[in-house]
Amino acid sequence: MPAQHYPREYCIDGARIIDPSADLDGVGWLHVRDGRVAGIGLGRRPDGIQNVIAKPGLIACPGLIDIHVHLREPGGEHKETLQTGCEAAVAGGFTTVCCMPNTTPALDHVVVVKDVMKRAADIDLCRVKVIAAATVGRQGRELVDMDALKDAGVVAFSDDGDGIEDDDVCRDVMEKLREIDRPLFPHCEFKILSKSGVMHAGLTSTRLGLQGYDPRGEELMIQRDLRIVVETETRYHVAHISTAIGVDMIRRAKRNGVPATTEVCPHHLLLCDEDVIGADGTPDPNFKMSPPLRSRDDVKACIEGVIDGTIECIVTDHAPHTAEEKQAGFVKAPMGIVGLETSLACAAKALIWPGGLGWSDLIRCMTANPARILGLEGGTLAVGQPAGITLIDPDREWTIRAEDFRSKSRNTPFDGWRVKAKAVATIVAGRPVYLDESCPWITE
Ligand SMILES: [Zn+2]
Repeated sequence: MPAQHYPREYCIDGARIIDPSADLDGVGWLHVRDGRVAGIGLGRRPDGIQNVIAKPGLIACPGLIDIHVHLREPGGEHKETLQTGCEAAVAGGFTTVCCMPNTTPALDHVVVVKDVMKRAADIDLCRVKVIAAATVGRQGRELVDMDALKDAGVVAFSDDGDGIEDDDVCRDVMEKLREIDRPLFPHCEFKILSKSGVMHAGLTSTRLGLQGYDPRGEELMIQRDLRIVVETETRYHVAHISTAIGVDMIRRAKRNGVPATTEVCPHHLLLCDEDVIGADGTPDPNFKMSPPLRSRDDVKACIEGVIDGTIECIVTDHAPHTAEEKQAGFVKAPMGIVGLETSLACAAKALIWPGGLGWSDLIRCMTANPARILGLEGGTLAVGQPAGITLIDPDREWTIRAEDFRSKSRNTPFDGWRVKAKAVATIVAGRPVYLDESCPWITE
């Protein structure tokens, strides 16, 4: 619930302050005044600050950022609206999300982009940034008016949902993006190789008699793209990487100074293709997404990629669908799962609790890194910046219940999972926009 009243000045005291943008990690204090960070430090707070809120045991970090979500407006309001998507986002600890353009119509024109921006601003929960389509209608043929879209505030370009298959179009897109200094955010998939598979091509797909998606569909597009990136020096951020070879190609490209980055979703760190089979022996549509759940080796490679810094962002690819749509059977059901309300706990389950990563590194992947890659405001607790803050209870054990989601949709493979770690307060420009019932605030 949002706080009805909150003081214009307050100090969060005794929390573990983690700001990866400043390599800060320790017990300390965080002073907010008039919507901005007024002071931050480790150790004892200075005297004379009004409204001290003691929060020992919690982590206070920059507001989480998810640069890959589908908010479904316009055209998909039966799955999610900007309102329900933003409510889900702040309940998951996110103060900024970037929405993808595969809407109806696509976000490929200034008029529709500005409309989304205005309505998100009116909702006034988290900040919503727009990633526009790279080609008209996401058809992979004609470039959108990138200059106009950049002027409208678009932060990146993507035909997410589909790859840009034509080499010449892809080159034209990258050359133009280099000129306007915006990153390409590609969905890497050659359909001739993925064969529009409904799950990963492997033993499980063979056993189930389902069309498999060959991982080379992803790998070969990354390989093709990287040649163009080397030539054009365009900033290049691979969406939702899922294959071991893909991760290794980005690792080697980065080593060679190529401006390539990538991201991974929690489900690709926790689940493999074998998990698609439900308790009744049939494949469960809530485990169907693109790219699909891969092999155990791919999962391991993605985890290693986050740990060694090859993969710099954790994103949800939050993709709501109605229960009716998902009940159409595994083959017919649409691709995608929701993730905003489970991302932090699932990322912790994959990366922190097994001992691979510390909180500071995970938070870096959900704040400073995505902010840097897309040039977003936020991702820092630097003095003078707008106070976007997430308070996390790292020890909170809870059960994921899809029926409790703020999102309009319930399509998650994690329903009923026991997890640990939860965002308990989300603060945008100093204002609490989400408070867990366990996190009382003080009122004026
Ligand atoms: Zn995609």
